[in-house]
Amino acid sequence: MANPQSITVVIAAYNEEAALPVFHPRLMKVLDGLDLAARVLYVDDGSRDGTFAMLQAFAGADPRVGVIGLARNFGKELALTAGLDHAEGDAVVVLDADGQDPPELIPALVAKWREGYDVVYGTRTRRDGETWFKRFSAAAFYRVMAWLSRTDIPRDTGDFRLMSRPVLDALRGLRERQRFMKGLFTWVGFRQVSFPYERESRMAGRTSFNYWKLWNLALEGITSFSTVPLRLATYLGLFTALAAFGWGVWIIVRTLAWDDPVQGWPSLMIVVLFLGGLQLVALGIIGEYLGRLYMEAKQRPLYLIRTFVRQPPVGGTSVP
Ligand code: UDP
Ligand code: MG
Repeated sequence: MANPQSITVVIAAYNEEAALPVFHPRLMKVLDGLDLAARVLYVDDGSRDGTFAMLQAFAGADPRVGVIGLARNFGKELALTAGLDHAEGDAVVVLDADGQDPPELIPALVAKWREGYDVVYGTRTRRDGETWFKRFSAAAFYRVMAWLSRTDIPRDTGDFRLMSRPVLDALRGLRERQRFMKGLFTWVGFRQVSFPYERESRMAGRTSFNYWKLWNLALEGITSFSTVPLRLATYLGLFTALAAFGWGVWIIVRTLAWDDPVQGWPSLMIVVLFLGGLQLVALGIIGEYLGRLYMEAKQRPLYLIRTFVRQPPVGGTSVP
């Protein structure tokens, strides 16, 4: 493997003015200790507080810091995409701005990378400051995903990871609008290795992911990486039709044999409602996929950049 020369740390930040003053110095201290050229690329995801001004100040004070300001809040997946698209260097490290992914682990990630791995992803051994329900729903999600999709997304793995240049280039080729980064990170393949770490609680500020957002992210993951729900609808329909046929025969026989035609209002209602429900569910599943197809068909850009405070090229140690 070629001698690694430089890395860029990509950080998506949305309304993080409470966490950044603590996080940034902590990160820079780690980078100062690295034996390679390291830079930082913050992506301000349309924050409504002082985040962008704060990031600009960081960039003004240190030439290693670059800032992308998105035109509005595009969500973490797209903010990350913007950062990864513009990151330079031989490898990229993705961190959260709230300090939950400890920057102190970067040297360890780099060490693994130098061993020859292309992706070093952080796996949480402990989930501090999270409710049992969040832990439970996360576990359920990974299980369902593993069952539905051929892309085996590693459990308890977030976006915290190091990726080499070839992986980054591969990721840049995936321009789907409905993005599920964890899935895409896995889908590209390459030599991947897990790196166990203890995820800390947020240093300050609040998580911007509520259960509704997480549920939608889960739907995104399932529909982006699996068409099993569509097939499920087919089998469900097939099974119901078969059962209905069997029952129909029984009703005809019963009517002819015992001459008992009027009874059966409750069963009639149950059948009508049940079938109606099944049909709506199946339609809904088709709709989920159709809607995503529609969004893709529009070919809109993934994100829009309002301002870009660029880093000057690294002098000296950078690769030719
Ligand atoms: N984030 C973002 N855009 C959003 C929401 C979040 O860029 O619309 C960033 C946020 O600033 C943080 C990271 O994504 O750096 C993770 O967000 P958060 O800590 O709220 O999520 P959690 O750790 O609870 O999963
Ligand atoms: Mg967080």
